Amino acid sequence: MAKVCIIDREEKAGIPIKEDIVINAIRAIKRKLRISTGNDLVVCAAHVEEAKKRRERFERSLMTSAGIGAVLGIILVLLAIFNPNRSIVSVLQAIIFLLLLVLIMAALSLYQYFPAIKERAGAPSRPRHVAKRRR
Ligand SMILES: [Zn+2]
Repeated sequence: MAKVCIIDREEKAGIPIKEDIVINAIRAIKRKLRISTGNDLVVCAAHVEEAKKRRERFERSLMTSAGIGAVLGIILVLLAIFNPNRSIVSVLQAIIFLLLLVLIMAALSLYQYFPAIKERAGAPSRPRHVAKRRR
């Protein structure tokens, strides 16, 4: 399989991206539509920094949106619980609505989706025994 940089779409070597639920879903859809290129997605050395930034931005927007959904949903659940005419059904409805809100808000941030890249194998990490010896 050819290795293709996900940012410039050119064939070159790079760090492979992490397979996640979104990547797998996109692959499955492309295979169904028979538009799968079958390429291995990588991030080339020139785009590592950009890839990390875009991933960070996506993660932040995902957390923010899911958080907003959760806060709104929890308020609705509390309103349902403290409603003098509350019923189990209305509380359950509010809880289901809370879950839906979180899902919808998370889905909304998918347009910013960017996969994570695998940490470079064998990256120089500070050996622990060095720090220990100093104690
Ligand atoms: Zn690139």
